[in-house]
Amino acid sequence: MSLNLTVDGERWRSHLRSLTEATPGLVPVAKGNGYGFTLGRLARKAQWLADQGLGVDTLAVGTYDELPEVASRYAGDLLVLTPWRPFGAAIELDPRLADRVVHTVSRPEDLGDLLGRQPDARVVLERTTSMLRHGMTARELWSTPRILADHPKARVRGVALHLPLAHGAHLSEVQRLMNDVVATELPLDTVWVSHLAADELAVLRAAYPDFTFRPRVGTDLWLGDRGALRVTATVLDVHAVERGDAFGYRHRTAPKAGHILVVSGGTAHGIGLEAPTGDASLRSRAATLARGGLDAAGFVRSPFSIDGKQRLFAEPPHMQASMLFLPHGARVPAIGDEVDVRVRYTATAFDRVVVS
Ligand SMILES: *Cc1c(COP(=O)(O)O)cnc(C)c1O
Repeated sequence: MSLNLTVDGERWRSHLRSLTEATPGLVPVAKGNGYGFTLGRLARKAQWLADQGLGVDTLAVGTYDELPEVASRYAGDLLVLTPWRPFGAAIELDPRLADRVVHTVSRPEDLGDLLGRQPDARVVLERTTSMLRHGMTARELWSTPRILADHPKARVRGVALHLPLAHGAHLSEVQRLMNDVVATELPLDTVWVSHLAADELAVLRAAYPDFTFRPRVGTDLWLGDRGALRVTATVLDVHAVERGDAFGYRHRTAPKAGHILVVSGGTAHGIGLEAPTGDASLRSRAATLARGGLDAAGFVRSPFSIDGKQRLFAEPPHMQASMLFLPHGARVPAIGDEVDVRVRYTATAFDRVVVS
């Protein structure tokens, strides 16, 4: 009935443990749909890592709205990655959580504003990177000691750098940014970073021995061993069709004989249309058309595969189910059979996550 994520628990936990062991200072990131696992489950797993003495003293969430989901399941510090702003969820923070939260501050004016509201707030100052998402310029970072001088109870927990996804090409940028950090007249000793490879971290640790580097890791932690994960849908119905038979919301007609398969998983789960099959050039389209290929009939590749082959949508996915076209000659699965689905984990809402 459902779109399921089945996790080989032993293998998944062993990956979580070994990556954490191999990554000193690791800060697990639990945000959004919890990378497919749900935020609550990731918070419990972060606690499980902490309980094993692996030094997981901080869990990062994406937004202030996500804090309640993790706070009762994980006991350590909670770093909010979205910078604090003087509006919305950031200023509605549950006072019972305030002392566990580490705020990210990306504008000098927000630092004064936040500390005016919570004088002993713990903050990480974000320096902007080539990503240009959030963060202060060097000049702005250097202006913060003046603001902090008015708030002696403030607890500065370091600087944050959010780097683009360019594995292996960060070092020169980080070194430039570190110059700005070193030149800031604050006792900064921790740098919270993302998307640095293990060898880059090693180089930085050697170059800046007075600093602790804390990598914030989501994808490589939770989704780092794809072999431990399997996504399946269930065949809910099978209908034999002849060429010319009508089907679906739009009453298309079957271009040739085969089967319409109804499988679980639709737009509500995040199942979307894939790119059209094959080469889209006019010449190749003409060639496919001449062969009477199904993509020429307007069928689009789906993320569902049967017998190792990605199958075509008979029409765009429905809300909770999808219709596939299986050409004559292919093995026809039975109602109740499971089929594999290729998904983007960070954009998929599974009906069930089963961890063995
Ligand atoms: C999401 C996020 C991360 C983790 O990113 P992954 O690619 O999932 O490891 C780290 N830092 C910040 C600021 C983020 O928003």
